[in-house]
Order: sequence, then structure tokens, then C-alpha cells
Amino acid sequence: MSFPAPQGGASLVLSFRLRNRKILILGSGPLAASRAFSALEADSAITVIAKGGLTSACDELRWRVQQQQLRVVDWDTLPQSSSGTEEEASLGSHLTDTSFVCVTDTVLGEPNRRGRASAERIYRLCRARNIPVNTTDMPDLCDFSFTATHRFEGPLSGTRSALQIGVTTNGQGCRLAGRVKREIVGLLPKEVGAAVDQVGIMRGLARPLDAVEEHELCEDSGMSTPNRPVPARSPTETEVERASRRMKWVAQVSEYWPISRLAAMTEHDMGEVLAGECYTSPSAPSTLSPSIHSLDIRQKGRIFLVGSGPGHPSLLTIATHTALTKLADLVLSDKLVPAAVLALIPPTVQVRIAKKFPGNAEGAQNEMMEAAVEAASRGLTVVRLKQGDPVVYGRAGEEVLHFRAHGFEPVVVPGVTSALAGPTFAGIPATQRGVAEALAVCTGVGRAGRDVQLPGYERARTLVVLMGVARLAAVVAALLDPAAGARRAGAVYPLHLPIAIVERASMPDQRVVVSTLRDIVRALESAGEQRPPGLMVIGWAVLALWGTGDVGVLDDGVERDDEVRVTRWLGEDVGWRVTEGLPTGWDAL
Ligand code: SAH
Repeated sequence: MSFPAPQGGASLVLSFRLRNRKILILGSGPLAASRAFSALEADSAITVIAKGGLTSACDELRWRVQQQQLRVVDWDTLPQSSSGTEEEASLGSHLTDTSFVCVTDTVLGEPNRRGRASAERIYRLCRARNIPVNTTDMPDLCDFSFTATHRFEGPLSGTRSALQIGVTTNGQGCRLAGRVKREIVGLLPKEVGAAVDQVGIMRGLARPLDAVEEHELCEDSGMSTPNRPVPARSPTETEVERASRRMKWVAQVSEYWPISRLAAMTEHDMGEVLAGECYTSPSAPSTLSPSIHSLDIRQKGRIFLVGSGPGHPSLLTIATHTALTKLADLVLSDKLVPAAVLALIPPTVQVRIAKKFPGNAEGAQNEMMEAAVEAASRGLTVVRLKQGDPVVYGRAGEEVLHFRAHGFEPVVVPGVTSALAGPTFAGIPATQRGVAEALAVCTGVGRAGRDVQLPGYERARTLVVLMGVARLAAVVAALLDPAAGARRAGAVYPLHLPIAIVERASMPDQRVVVSTLRDIVRALESAGEQRPPGLMVIGWAVLALWGTGDVGVLDDGVERDDEVRVTRWLGEDVGWRVTEGLPTGWDAL
């Protein structure tokens, strides 16, 4: 067995809720004021202790005292006693019930700067009472450090969101931490705070008050994939089942919807999500309800069935781009279509995103088809936007027949399919002379969540499995089961056969986990949270282009060399390798 080896030297990054807990701040300069402000935002009760008390305090602290936000105590008026140290006598009673101590009067430039010896005594006093201390400029006297933080704006301007981020460099560069924080904030969509708050509200609506213990209802329930099927709704559903089904939907929405759409959710939209309806984007332009006068001159509606490619917006075809940006009145999008592609659609175009969650695919599909026919019947140009290529597990066939039956012949525009682009982005050639002469693409999940029959092993064939990563263990078991049975048609797969899990191919957070069929389940588990969507690539092509390459798999034809081949590729020790991010060069595209 092998799990990630911990690499010490990091901090345990926690965020504390301090409602009315006591914080003691020593010093009354601008740094003390800034610590006080952070602590006030966390609703704590603050006592500032400094030589000279209020008279020597900085303007901000004096103002906050006037506002009754905190109190300032003069160090010199604290009770002194003849026994023990000055620090012990002065601080002793103040330390009772204190949660944290911040010593700020050790900062350079402070007029009454506290010396090292006194700071050490304070540190020891607190240590003896298990009170964590931060001592400015003395890293060895710190149990915790402050992160560079940012609180995001809430849905209404001027309000604060529940979303905060903190950046730490573990004492290696405060300035740089501030800049990294600013750059992260700059990269996030500005509505991200509002999105968090809206999701919070929706979570509240998802679970009936008091009925269920909070811990039973985590959105993920400890599972590392949000793609577990949402249990079908049953007439005998209990409150808890109902609440956990709804929480699952909240998790799905949090994972897939663009931040801007989450931020713009109204309570009505949330109700629709929780009831299992489709979601309509907030912008519903007037073109959707043409006036009576325009009825007779209206053109006949059209439907385009287009593919978005695997994720990177530059992999859209020009045809799809034109349909989305120039032709569409209404875009009906699949849930998996990446936010970067949705972002290209002009804001005046209405966008609906299917609520095609596991367990709810059928309903969402029908609703989307009906919405397309309804809008096209009103003369609108409808773009049905599918992820990847519309005919690769995209139900394009059903839609073509449905639209045709309603008098609309859709234009089907192919897209770059993840089945081919996924391997390429992972450095794996789907076919390769000397390694893989054929390619099979299949799904890991059958209709209505049933098992599928996977193809048997062929040395010269690459197998790409879509929609199977959430059920990885079952898929691998079917490939390795010596008895073919109903789950596999043909030869059993060798244990050491290379496999790659390619997640979010072509997106900035792309991740590739490579291993063998024997170890892949543990490899993926050890890599942390899954990042849907993901696919599997199975076969010798997975190692063909690694390093200096190995393209003799078929020519050598010596299967006993295979273990050596795998060891050369993966190394002796761990049994897998994880690669993060896009291949070099894609940032320029
Ligand atoms: N029509 C799509 C496939 C739809 S099925 C296409 O041609 O790509 C959905 C499955 O596609 C997902 O479960 C996943 O297996 C795969 N998939 C889609 N986009 C992906 C991506 N960017 N990276 C990895 N897998 C992806």
C-alpha cells in the first residue's frame, strides 16, 4: 500500500469562529488596530493592553473605544505584586478565559517597544495556560500567524459575503502573501461572494428546519465524487431522504453552474432546482415574446444542435461559435458545458442549463427537447448546446428524431469530442503505429444506471471509457474478472495494463492520474477529490509517448516484457503518477 507521504513544514489552516470569545492584544499602534479590526469582524470581545492606555493609543483604536467596540487598558495601572514577574502580575487575571493573545508591541518602530525577554515571558505564561500566541516579528514566539485575508462582497453592494479567503506564506513573505491574495481575488469572478451566499440560502431551503441533524446532510456525505446518482424520488420518501436528495442537487449545482448564474439565483430559481425542474437564466429578453403584430412576419424557427468541445473555449468550431454568438435567441445547454464556453454567449441571449443530474437525466432531456420545439415554433433560433461532440453519448439521435417529428430539421454541428481530445491532452495517442491499431469508445454506465457490457482485452486496441470514473472500481472489476460474464465480452485484461484517468481535460484544472489496472482505484483515491468530468484511457497507448517513448509494444510482441515496460514507465515505488494542469503551451491559446 502506498499513500501520500506528509511533507512537514506547513501550517494547519483553520478558520475560527470567535463569537464573543476574548482576544487580548498587547500594544496600541496601527498594527494592534489592524488585528483588532480582524478580530471584530470575527465577532470577538477585544481588550487592548498598552503602556499609556488610551492616551498613547493610535487614532483608530481611540475611535473604536468611543464606538464601544473594544476597551483599552493601561499596562501601568494593572495591579502589580511583589512576587512573580511583571508580566505575570499584570496579565494574570486578564488571561482567564482568553482565547488568543496577539503581542504587537514588539514591532520595530514602536515607541514603547517590548523587549525579547518580556515577550518570551508572556509567551511562556500563555503556553502554561494553553492560550495560543502571535508575537510580531518573533516567529519562534508564534503559535499561529495571520493570513492575508479577503472578504468578498455579498449579493447587495456594501454587504459582506460569507466567503473569505486567507493566504499564508508561513512567515516567508507577508508582502508577497498580500499580493498573491490580491491576484487570486482578481482572477475570481466578482460575483463569487454572492454565489456562495445564494448557495447558502438554497442549502437552508433544501433541508427542513430541525427535522434532520446537520451532519447527516453534508452535500457530499464524505464521498469524493459529486456524481453518485441522486436517488430517485419515491412516494414513500422520508424527510431525511428528501432532504439528502435535495442536498445532492445543491452539490451538483455548486459543481457545474457558472458562478454568475449561481449568484443571480432568485428564491424562485432555487425552488425550481430543489423541485427538480430545469433552471432558466435570469435574463429573459423581450424577443422571447414577440408582439402580436410581429406574428405574421415572423420567420420560421430553426434548431442547431452543436458541440462545445471538451472545455477549452478555443476548441469550439467556428460554426458553433457563430451559432452561439450571432444566431441564437435561446441557448439550451447541457450541464457539463464549461463555464468558459457559456461565457461567450452574449448577455442578451437567454440561456437555460439542463438539470441533468445523475438520476434525473430523462426528465431534463425531455424538458430541453420540448423547450426547443416550443421556442422554434415561436420563430426563434434555438441552439441546443452539448458538451464535446453532440453525437458521442449526447443523445443527438433522439433530438434529431424528436425535432423532425415536430417539423424542424436540426442542423447538427460536430464538436471536438473528449473521447479523442481527453487522451491527447494527457499526452496519450488514441492510436499509434506499433502500439494501438484500433480505438473503442464506450460508456461505463448503461441506460438507467445499469451495468454495461465492456469490450474484452485486445493488445492492439485502446479503450476509452466515458461516464465511468464515479464507478471506477466496478469498471475495473469488470475488466479484471476472469469470468467474462455479462459485464465483459471477451478476454480478461492484464493487471499491469496501463490506464489513465483524465479529468477536466483542456480546462485549467485538468488532472491526469496514470497507473495500472491493479493500482488505479487506490491511485485515484489517494489523489483526493475527484474532478468531474473525467474519462478513462486503457491500453498500451497510455505509456507510448512517455519520456523517450515506447512504440514497440506490438512489434516486440513479447508479453513477458510488459512488466519491465510498466516499471520503466512508472518507476519501482509508488505505482502511479499524478499530473496537474494543461500541457505546456496551451496558456498561449
Ligand atoms: N458528448 C461528449 C460526451 C458526453 S458523455 C463528448 O463528446 O465529449 C459525458 C462524459 O464525457 C463524461 O462523463 C466524461 O467521461 C467525458 N468528458 C466530457 N468532457 C470531458 C473533459 N473535459 N475531460 C474528461 N472527460 C470528459
